[in-house]
Amino acid sequence: GFNCGIVGLPNVGKSTIFNALTSAGAESANYPFCTIDPNVGIVQVPDERMKKLAEIVHPERILPTTIEFLDIAGLVKGASQGEGLGNKFLGHIRSVDAIVHVVRCFEDENVVHVSGGVNPVNDIEVIKTELGLADLDSVEKKLVRVEKLAKSGDKKVKDEADFYQRLKGAVEQGKRPQDVVTSDDEKLWLYDLHLLTDKPVLYVANVSEDDLEGKHPFVARVQELAAAEGARVVTICGRIEAEISELDGDEKEAFLAEMGLKESGLDRLIRSGYELLGLITYFTAGVKEVRAWTITRGTKAPQAAGVIHSDFEKGFIRAEVIAYSDFIAAGGEAGAKEKGLMRLEGKEYVVQDGDVMHFRFNV
Ligand code: GDP
Repeated sequence: GFNCGIVGLPNVGKSTIFNALTSAGAESANYPFCTIDPNVGIVQVPDERMKKLAEIVHPERILPTTIEFLDIAGLVKGASQGEGLGNKFLGHIRSVDAIVHVVRCFEDENVVHVSGGVNPVNDIEVIKTELGLADLDSVEKKLVRVEKLAKSGDKKVKDEADFYQRLKGAVEQGKRPQDVVTSDDEKLWLYDLHLLTDKPVLYVANVSEDDLEGKHPFVARVQELAAAEGARVVTICGRIEAEISELDGDEKEAFLAEMGLKESGLDRLIRSGYELLGLITYFTAGVKEVRAWTITRGTKAPQAAGVIHSDFEKGFIRAEVIAYSDFIAAGGEAGAKEKGLMRLEGKEYVVQDGDVMHFRFNV
């Protein structure tokens, strides 16, 4: 599966948000085992389209797709120098596909701030510095090894060493590693390093319960900083989300309606995490179940089929595809077929978000 690691300084609301995410998931009937580890939660990806599909198909069950969230606590100033359990936490971050960086934008005199006062921009810098220092260490170690090898005079090894030299400069200046990549080789060399600062990032501005719209200047500052990085900001109130996550479906809808909200902050966060990971959803829609499946954008039909079962990929013949909007407009598969809206696609078809798929395969 794909996962997002929740990081941030202590006392910014990471656990509150993580617990809300996982308890919200745990309420759904189909996934009894939502928490596989105290720090790992499997979370259902909310998708309004499934309801619409189910209204047409009347399946026995609806199975949303999921992503994982990890609560990575313990990141503090000095972590990259091995302070506290710093290195262990950085190792956890290395293993995730994307980073959800929680920033405290709420003031609460009862909640201590690690550096004395709430200052989201400063907090972000502290975390980024730790990640950058850890990366610098990785790049320097690699550079020393490759420079030794480069003494043999091999052109390619020399190029590699030059790349790490440039990369080191970029990391030192807090620049994004991918910005120094100029060739496919360099892309691979960078990938092999699994740098922390190379992971996609999403910021969560954790606002106070009386500032749900995020009007506090702290939020604007986080947004500015994020915009400069090309990153997105999701504004939520961890405390309120924790309350919402305790409610069941109907209660939840009523509560949100009362507050004039269409969806919970957690739902926005989950969907943003999904997009951050470059993920899209296709559906299978039969009387047994309507189900969502996750693929990365750009996946072709056989590999998409392989997400259901490896036999589907191995024996792939073709796929019957109906775009989601066509499926709904035509009132289902039969109607779509009649209108000529069902396509037969082969091995090279790039699956689109929302496609309703039926695979034909040899066993
Ligand atoms: P972590 O150390 O980042 O995991 O932070 P926690 O989730 O443990 O939260 C630290 C403290 O901040 C706890 O007392 C939470 O109840 C409180 N907290 C978290 N989110 C909010 C929020 O949105 N508003 C307020 N007022 N307090 C919050």
